[in-house]
Order: sequence, then C-alpha cells, then structure tokens
Amino acid sequence: MKFSKANYSKMEKVKMFLKKYGYILGIVFAALVITTVGLVAGLTKAPTGGNIVNPPSQDVEAPKAVWHLPVDKVDVLKFYNDKKLQYNETLDHWKVHKAVDFKLNEGDKVYACFDGKISKIYTNLLEGTVIVIDHEGGIQTTYKSLNKDSVTLKVGDTVKGGDKIATADASASFESKSGPHLHLEVSLNGSLVDPANYIDLGNK
Ligand SMILES: [Zn+2]
Repeated sequence: MKFSKANYSKMEKVKMFLKKYGYILGIVFAALVITTVGLVAGLTKAPTGGNIVNPPSQDVEAPKAVWHLPVDKVDVLKFYNDKKLQYNETLDHWKVHKAVDFKLNEGDKVYACFDGKISKIYTNLLEGTVIVIDHEGGIQTTYKSLNKDSVTLKVGDTVKGGDKIATADASASFESKSGPHLHLEVSLNGSLVDPANYIDLGNK
C-alpha cells in the first residue's frame, strides 16, 4: 500500500511535469525536426543550373552607416509618409509628404548625404533653391528650401558625403510657414522613397 502510493505520486509528478513543460518539449522537438529536415533537404538538393533568379535591386538598400546626415542636428519637422495625408500649413490643404523635413535655423549648414555628382541646381517660387545629386545605384537626393546665395557648386561638380552644399533658408514657399528647414527627398530609380531607409533619423 505504501509502495504503490509512492509510485502513484511519482506518476502524478511526471504528469504534472508534462502538463507544465510539455509544450516546451513539443517546441524543442518540432525545432529539431525542422532543422533536420532543412539540413537533409539542403544536402540532398542537387545544383539545378540555370534559372538563377537575382533578387530585384529595389530590395537592396544602402547601409545606413555610410550615409552622412544632411544636417548637424536632426530635428524632424515632418516625416515621410506616402499614404497618410499631412496638413500643409502654407497651402492650407492636406497632401502626402514624400520627404523628410529637418527643422533648421537660417544659415545652418546642409550637407551632401553621399558621394555623387550634382545634376541640377534651380530656384523657383514653390520649392525655393534646390540641389539634386545623382548617386550610384539609381539613387538621387534632392535638397529643397536652400539659401540661393550660399550655393557655390555647379552642375557637374562631384561631392563627397558630408560636403557642405548650401545653408538653410525658408525659400520654399510651399512650406514657408514651416520656417527655415531642409526638405529632403530620396528617389530610387525615379520613385520617391523614405529617406529613413538610408539615414538614421533616430526615433520615428
Ligand atoms: Zn517638406
């Protein structure tokens, strides 16, 4: 009687253990099975030859570390958002903002984000003074709302990441109510993309 009772409680303990930790054993077992199947499949897979599909280049993002910040101190006024409408105080209407706006003081320096070649410099009422830099890999950076007199570079000039290209101003009338700032656009193969993919903006 005493013996069987002890045995019974031992069984209960095992049951309790399985009840408590059974799922962990299950997960470990499942992971082992998946790993084994994966290894076997990998080892037995014969080279097929041909039909090698290269991933589309859009998926390859430049590492953030090599991009220089376009401003000395990151203070984001407006983030990039290609879906959500954001209110534009100046134009008094809602539109998507496919760029990042950095709050600056008049005269603050603006830097090239990456090595490249200046492809456009222009000034108009809406965008203010603008510099466009072509980079390798179909990437372009566009810097808007610059101070016109601060631009000494010319189209065709090459720049390094971190080179000063201009100073800040409130020259872009479409965002003039934002005050002096840099409106930075990044495009990949002609489409605007989120600059945060390339530049560390801190907490988003
Ligand atoms: Zn903007």
